[in-house]
Amino acid sequence: MSTIFSKIIAKEIPARIVHEDELCLAFHDVSPQAPTHVLIIPKKPIASLEQLEQEDAPLLGHLWMTIAKLARELGIAESGYRVVVNCGKDGGQSVDHLHFHILGGRSLAWPPG
Ligand code: 5GP
Repeated sequence: MSTIFSKIIAKEIPARIVHEDELCLAFHDVSPQAPTHVLIIPKKPIASLEQLEQEDAPLLGHLWMTIAKLARELGIAESGYRVVVNCGKDGGQSVDHLHFHILGGRSLAWPPG
């Protein structure tokens, strides 16, 4: 399924990209919920956590390693940050392409709403 994120991967619409490699893309969220709010997505069009397959395990490892690297590069690793994946309707997912929110730069409340 084609989503707004497929178009960002294809460079059909612009985004403030902070990282790209053969497996993933990271860019600033257009509607930031914290001083730093970056989304990281696999280039493979996986709709959500629900659609993950066993063969995606190495890709997920790569995404998590890249998240930790980006947090350091974005200057939020030391103060702390949160990684969020919304899944499905009750999870609040609005784009059907798996994405990890990296949020930092302020103290984040818990529990989430
Ligand atoms: P979700 O609600 O699915 O977990 O998160 C989707 C995120 O994508 C939202 O935080 C939203 O602001 C962001 N978003 C939606 N459309 C665009 C876009 O065109 N560009 C960028 N950079 N972010 C987008």
